[in-house]
Amino acid sequence: MIPRTHPLRQTPAWQTELARAVTDPAELLKTLELDMGLLPAARRAAREFGLRVPRGFVARMRKGDPRDPLLLQVMPLAAECQAAPGFDTDPVGDRAAMAVPGLLHKYRGRVLLTVTGACAVHCRYCFRRHFPYSEANPAADQWRPALAYIAADDGIGEVILSGGDPLTLTDRRLGEFVAQLGAIPHVRRLRVHTRLPVVLPERVTAELLDWLSSTHLKTVVVVHANHANEVDAGVRAALLRLRTSGVTLLNQAVLLRGVNDCVRTLEELSLALFDAGVLPYYLHALDRVGGAAHFEVEEAAARALLAELSARLPGYLVPRLVRELPGAPAKMPLCL
Ligand SMILES: *Cc1c(COP(=O)(O)O)cnc(C)c1O
Ligand code: SF4
Repeated sequence: MIPRTHPLRQTPAWQTELARAVTDPAELLKTLELDMGLLPAARRAAREFGLRVPRGFVARMRKGDPRDPLLLQVMPLAAECQAAPGFDTDPVGDRAAMAVPGLLHKYRGRVLLTVTGACAVHCRYCFRRHFPYSEANPAADQWRPALAYIAADDGIGEVILSGGDPLTLTDRRLGEFVAQLGAIPHVRRLRVHTRLPVVLPERVTAELLDWLSSTHLKTVVVVHANHANEVDAGVRAALLRLRTSGVTLLNQAVLLRGVNDCVRTLEELSLALFDAGVLPYYLHALDRVGGAAHFEVEEAAARALLAELSARLPGYLVPRLVRELPGAPAKMPLCL
C-alpha cells in the first residue's frame, strides 16, 4: 500500500511560497526583462545582504522598468557597496537596548521582541540588515527569559512582536507564545509588526486569525507598505480579513528616494491602505544604515512633502513623519 500523507501534515501554502522566494538576482532580472548588465553589481551587493523576494511581490512589478518602486526596494545595487559617512551598522542603538536576548526595552510601557531574524523579503534599506540575529534570537523554547522579564515589570502593558518578521513563525508557535503572554496580568496589548500580509498575503490563514482573535489582549497589527502598487486585490482581501477578525490595522512606511518621495505617491498609498481597512501610522525617515545612503531623502524635503500631503488628505490619512534617535524616549516627530 502507498502510505498517504495526513492532510494536516501538509505544508501550508504560505510556507511553500516563502520557500520559493526569488533569491537569485539573475532570475529576478530575467523575469522582469531587465538588462543583464545589472547582474555583476547585484551579485556583489547580494553577498553583503542576500536578495529575497516572494514571487507574488515580483508579479506586482512592471516589466522592463529598472526604476519600478517595488523593484527598487528589493534589488541589490552597486550603490549599496559605497561607504557613506554617518551610515553605520547599528544606527538606532539596538545593541545597547537589548535587556535580555531578543528583548528591546527602549520606550516606556512597551517592549519589543525580535522573535526571529527571518523575513519573507529583504528590504535593501532595512536598518536590521547588519543586526546580529544569531545572538539576538531566542530559539524555539528560549522565550522564557523574555517572558520572565515582562512578568517581572508591571509597567509593561504592551508587547510588540517584531524581528525579522514574526509571521514567518508557525501559527502553532505564535499561538502558544501569545497564550503565555496573555497569562501575564499586566500585559493588555499585543502588537505585531509584520510585512507578510503585504508581501505574501497567503500568510493570512484561518489559523492566524484564530490565535489573533482568541486572545483577550487588544491586538494591533502594523503592516509595512511603501507604495500603493504593493496593495493589489489579494493584499486588500487579506488585510480586510485581518480587519474583520477584530484587530486594529496600521501601516508604517519608510520614506525612500525613488520609491515614494513624491506627494502623489504618498497620497495614493494612504488611500489604497484605507481601502484595505488600514490607517497610516508612521512614515519613517530612513535609518542611517550602511548600504542605504542612496535611499535618503533630505529632512527639509521630507517636511515639505508632509506639509503638502496634509493639505491634500484628511488628518487621519496623514502618517506621522518620525525619526528614530538612539537614546530618545520615543520616535521623534519631524515637525513642520
Ligand atoms: C519603534 C519601537 C517601539 C514602538 O514605538 P511606538 O512609538 O509605540 O510605535 C517600541 N520599542 C522599540 C525598541 C522600537 O524600536
Ligand atoms: S521586512 Fe522589515 S525587518 Fe524584514 S527586511 Fe524588510 S524592513 Fe527589514
